Amino acid sequence: MILDLSRVLSEQHEPIEQSVPVEMDVFQCEMGSFQLVKKSLISLCVSYAGDKRLTITGKGDITAVIPCDRCLTDVQVEIPLDFHKKVSVDPEGADETEELDEANYIDGYSFDVEQLIYNELLVGWPTKILCSEDCKGICNVCGQNLNEGSCNCEDTGLDPRMSVIRDVFKNFKEV
Ligand SMILES: [Zn+2]
Ligand SMILES: [Zn+2]
Repeated sequence: MILDLSRVLSEQHEPIEQSVPVEMDVFQCEMGSFQLVKKSLISLCVSYAGDKRLTITGKGDITAVIPCDRCLTDVQVEIPLDFHKKVSVDPEGADETEELDEANYIDGYSFDVEQLIYNELLVGWPTKILCSEDCKGICNVCGQNLNEGSCNCEDTGLDPRMSVIRDVFKNFKEV
């Protein structure tokens, strides 16, 4: 969604308070494509902060489907969005030393809310996903999901040479 900033940036500096929808249904990034199954409206507030700067705050939450790191089962993960930005609308006048957000979502008077939401999702994206704390993962040999049942690989797949090595380690420990 594109918001028009001309009223905020006019003499009156009229703030914008609006609930905006999240348009994307799929979040695409380097890690892959992820379905967004639940999206709240983002309650957005844009106000003039003086000196050609804007304060942008927003709150909402998005639920994405992300596969478990161990067994690859789909997990629904809620990603809260809660941001507070200070951006300059005057690229030339921006003070380099100031902690301003790199506003690739503002171009003149138009504010690309969707782009900002994308940035925030990217920053807030969870790095570790488990379907449960004690997920057993999948068998490296046959690919069986070990949460759903065991396979026979463990019983028959043990290399006798490995058990010798294990015994050596055991002896080390006892010393
Ligand atoms: Zn899992
Ligand atoms: Zn197996």
